[in-house]
Amino acid sequence: MASGQLTIDLSAIAANWQALDALTACETGAVVKADGYGLGADRVARTLAHAGCRRFFVAMASEGAKVRQAVGPGPEIGVFSGHMRGDTDMIGDLMLTPMLNSLDQLTRHFEALPGHPFGIQLDTGMNRLGMEWDEWVAVAEIALQQRPILLMSHLACADEPDHPMNAYQLDLFRQMTDGLGVPRSLAATGGIQLGADYQFDLTRPGVGLYGGLPFDGAHPVVRLDLPVVQVRELGEGEVVGYGNSWQAARPSRIATVAAGYADGLPRALQGGLRLWHGRTPCPAVGRISMDLITVDITDLPEIPETLAVLDEHQRVDDLAAACGTIGYEVLTSLGARYERRYTG
Ligand SMILES: *Cc1c(COP(=O)(O)O)cnc(C)c1O
Repeated sequence: MASGQLTIDLSAIAANWQALDALTACETGAVVKADGYGLGADRVARTLAHAGCRRFFVAMASEGAKVRQAVGPGPEIGVFSGHMRGDTDMIGDLMLTPMLNSLDQLTRHFEALPGHPFGIQLDTGMNRLGMEWDEWVAVAEIALQQRPILLMSHLACADEPDHPMNAYQLDLFRQMTDGLGVPRSLAATGGIQLGADYQFDLTRPGVGLYGGLPFDGAHPVVRLDLPVVQVRELGEGEVVGYGNSWQAARPSRIATVAAGYADGLPRALQGGLRLWHGRTPCPAVGRISMDLITVDITDLPEIPETLAVLDEHQRVDDLAAACGTIGYEVLTSLGARYERRYTG
């Protein structure tokens, strides 16, 4: 094994989708944007379609093309960025469903693809995507005549259950959509766990499917093993890596493993990264470089062939905490150089 090996448990992804589905009485979709949070949108979407998922979401139309190829003609594929200029052919030919975000997009869609299914995204305070109150009031009648398949909005603070923003957005969403007779969706992974009021007709979980917070009950999905390239013995006082940033306080055995910041293990992990040999943690020492990490394995009874960065002891969110980010960013940064192996 020359490169790191990323093992992706597809049955755990299916189990996470089923567990999130079991928390609601409504339909459960799946967000597979950013190549399925870095794990392979085609494999993930096929797995979930097999598990019963009929609605997928991506950020942009080009991502939808890959998902359409993977799941075939049946399932619905929603595009959060809506109907962007230049995307008409793709949306039309591949039967993608844009979530229209503005009057501009509405006009473009109705002119270019009359009768083609669409949804509408409403902004309830996040100020990122979707029509705001005034714009919606102005276009609602025309838009509703064209029979949208979904009215959706997105929560800004759903990972903080007690945040007053949640109730505020729920109230605004209801005011904008109550009584219109169109299916609705508000909740992603965090929103699902806020309770039935937030679930409406369809949920759109992403990160929870892939084993990340804020879904506490998620099954772990990824495992990352890095090959040991070389092992050396250091005397007390010798130094390791760029900038001489680590010095051996005792005779030490150092393993060099094949991954670095070019593979999604940020330099900011320095000082906080541990790699695992079975149940034994080994600290990374010295700087993390582009392709290599040096690890203190002095306390291991044997020389390992690989060391794990992600496993049952150190999950995506643990690694995220060690470098001041979130599991979403760790997942979507996992490098292209890893050999991806699918199980389940
Ligand atoms: C990314 C995204 C989701 C999925 O969010 P998670 O927190 O990963 O579950 C749902 N809806 C929209 C609009 C998104 O952008």
